[in-house]
Amino acid sequence: MQVVVAGAGISGLTAALALARQGHRVRVVDRDGTARPAGVDAAAAWERRGVAQFHQPHAFLARLHAELDAGLPDVLASLVAHGAAPVDLPDGLRALWCRRSTLEWVLQAAAEAEPGVELRHAAVADVETAGGAVAGVRLVDGAVLPADLVVDATGRRGRLSRRWSGDTVDVPTDEVYVSRRYRLLPGAEFGPVERGVVSVAEGDGYAVLVFPHDAGTFSVCLTRLPDDEDLACLRELSSFEAATRAVPLAALWTDPARAVPISPVMVMGGLRSTFRLLDDAAPLGLHPLADAVSTSNPHFGRGSALAVAHALRLAGAVADAPGDARSWRAQVDDWVRGELHDWFEDGCRTDAARAAAWRAARDGAGWGGGPPAFGPGTPLPGWLVMAAAGADPVVGRAVLRHAHLVDPPSALTAVHPRVAAMLAEGWRPGRPPADQAGEGRPAGPPQAPPRQVLLAALAAA
Ligand SMILES: Cc1cc2nc3c(=O)[nH]c(=O)nc-3n(C[C@H](O)[C@H](O)[C@H](O)COP(=O)(O)OP(=O)(O)OC[C@H]3O[C@@H](n4cnc5c(N)ncnc54)[C@H](O)[C@@H]3O)c2cc1C
Repeated sequence: MQVVVAGAGISGLTAALALARQGHRVRVVDRDGTARPAGVDAAAAWERRGVAQFHQPHAFLARLHAELDAGLPDVLASLVAHGAAPVDLPDGLRALWCRRSTLEWVLQAAAEAEPGVELRHAAVADVETAGGAVAGVRLVDGAVLPADLVVDATGRRGRLSRRWSGDTVDVPTDEVYVSRRYRLLPGAEFGPVERGVVSVAEGDGYAVLVFPHDAGTFSVCLTRLPDDEDLACLRELSSFEAATRAVPLAALWTDPARAVPISPVMVMGGLRSTFRLLDDAAPLGLHPLADAVSTSNPHFGRGSALAVAHALRLAGAVADAPGDARSWRAQVDDWVRGELHDWFEDGCRTDAARAAAWRAARDGAGWGGGPPAFGPGTPLPGWLVMAAAGADPVVGRAVLRHAHLVDPPSALTAVHPRVAAMLAEGWRPGRPPADQAGEGRPAGPPQAPPRQVLLAALAAA
């Protein structure tokens, strides 16, 4: 069978490798013309215009590790050989500390070495159809590549399958990413990483995330509401540096005795949560994957794990019924409408609750206007349950499994009564660090300082 994959990102390369290993001839076409750099360190400066988030920090969840282990174990082994660090978590889970550039470099090297895969640089203009099925793709230069299976792996901005978009949800994530990368000084070690792949300090109206990567590198990311004018200055170097000094978690990691910055401050806004189903007129053999189907708030770090899972589901469907495009569509659709949609909804619910709480904090109404009254049958917002993870081991374990996409989203509701009890006993998210505990605000583990403290630090910068 002839396969064309549009997009040599995470899902496209995964699908290409898995399909070629079934004996299919796979052509991968990507509009980015820059060749794979000489090594993973050079890849940290890889110009990948087709992937706007390429240099933003990525967390690689236990689900990504498990999917690669099951579907492409040689790629996982190569990642580790090239410096990605497997991280052991409770329950036998294993995640990865790794730059996104390292993951793509390793995937692309594997695709280049795969006998059944051909990579070429060109932009795909459209999908060619005949008799209700795909016939191939047309490139922008007019050339047509024939195919029995067209994989649309063109990412969050891809348009290839849009003319067959059916039911669609498209909402803002209400969060802007502002990040910077650092490298440890010789002999220095990473700071604490409390969620396996990321450390988080939740503030009132903002959050700080630290992502350990490979090769002694890590990123600090400050996130804020898009309409939070007080924090818009974080894009400026002086403000970003002031914020990292003001938030204990970031100050600990970026201490000049521990690490040096190795990138500018990088901003990514306009982030949206999208979910697009194909309509009934979509040609058989057309398979949009990953971000071309669904995007979510990067704060959850789910995109790559779901991208690999989606690509491997497609390859599995093809292996189950070679030549039966109707069966591929049915099998992949089941997963998209099931698990992928459940994670999408989970993310949207969490985003909406977080944005409401952050807006209340920004507008001076405190923590969401005070703790809401939670009674039997009242669902707790997901962000609140996640915030409770550091304060209770049972909640922590459930949140870890949820955060790493190991259990279905619904499993987290089992710990809701426990979090409701914590609230009733006085626990609140986002407590100040011990040395800033004030009247009526008990000390907790180092978190983010009150918003006014951060704003004062920014004003002084
Ligand atoms: C700020 C930010 C942070 C993120 N952080 C995380 C994280 O921590 N953990 C995580 O798992 N995920 C994270 N994600 C999500 C993750 O980056 C995506 O889910 C993932 O890249 C999706 O892979 P993909 O294969 O769908 O598309 P991409 O990896 O985006 O690849 C798309 C490819 O298609 C090519 N292309 C586009 N149009 C065409 C065309 N017409 N013809 C030919 N080629 C084309 C592009 O050049 C590109 O190479 C983050 C996303 C953002 C925005």
